[in-house]
Amino acid sequence: MRHLLSISELERADIERIVEQAARFAEVSDREIKKVPALRGRMVLNLFYEASTRTRSSFELAAKRLSADVVNFASGGSSVEKGESLKDTVLTLGAHKPDAIVIRTPWVGAAALVAGWTGAAIVNAGDGKHEHPTQALLDVYTLRQKLGALDGASIWIVGDVAHSRVARSNILAFSRMGANVTVAGPPTLIPREIGALGCEVRFSLDEIAQADVVYALRMQHERMSEAWVPSLREYAAAFQINRRRVSARQLVMHPGPVNRGVELSGEVVDSPRTLITAQVQAGVVVRMAVLYELLSGARTFSPVPEPQLA
Ligand code: ASP
Repeated sequence: MRHLLSISELERADIERIVEQAARFAEVSDREIKKVPALRGRMVLNLFYEASTRTRSSFELAAKRLSADVVNFASGGSSVEKGESLKDTVLTLGAHKPDAIVIRTPWVGAAALVAGWTGAAIVNAGDGKHEHPTQALLDVYTLRQKLGALDGASIWIVGDVAHSRVARSNILAFSRMGANVTVAGPPTLIPREIGALGCEVRFSLDEIAQADVVYALRMQHERMSEAWVPSLREYAAAFQINRRRVSARQLVMHPGPVNRGVELSGEVVDSPRTLITAQVQAGVVVRMAVLYELLSGARTFSPVPEPQLA
């Protein structure tokens, strides 16, 4: 694998290889000294043109746990504010010879463009409403930890599918792994062509009891130029995931950040059954696996056993 731009480029075997590698790295994350020399001397550049809490911190942590050098770039406070273009910024920072560039932008296709401007391996950490492949991989990892396998599982992705890159990447990844994916939300937030990705479409939560996993999406206000739902209150009345709508048998996920009381009720956010924290933890080991895969060839990492005290 040269870059990670989109889940559409991955076969099931690629996804399995990455999440299995992540499981080996999880062992390192449980150690007292959470570091291995796997990418010593390599450099990872985090290039973020959009807000991020989980993705940026976990890529940084992932690179550091592999002993890579990390440079963090946020567009705020940089020469982007003086009008420097994406291309010039990439070429400027490319002078430091990064081995990998992790990039998030509000622009669909930007990660693929950057791949043509530099010799570095590119990881798409979110390109507008297009894709967020590492989110999908960490969600597959989290579900495999819980369910063993995704084959035959019914996964409902609920909410603002239209503006969500997570929805696109996750529909593809969950289907590749054998799950039956349904998307549900108000018609204004479900793009017409979404079924072509291989999912069912519902405009209500009437049949949500059949889901094994309920994956709520955040309302993407920053990508909305007009009102897509009458009001958040009405949206929540019909589509909020709350105790009334999900049972103890069902797993609940959300990529974060959560709009508490909109797509998820506070009770569900705080419930120990909700997998949000497990998803964040998975983010570090899955991103370690992605960086390792891109920067060290397809070799398998086998952790050296920790020395045992006599
Ligand atoms: N953090 C995810 C993303 O960047 C989900 C979200 O923001 O709603 O796409």
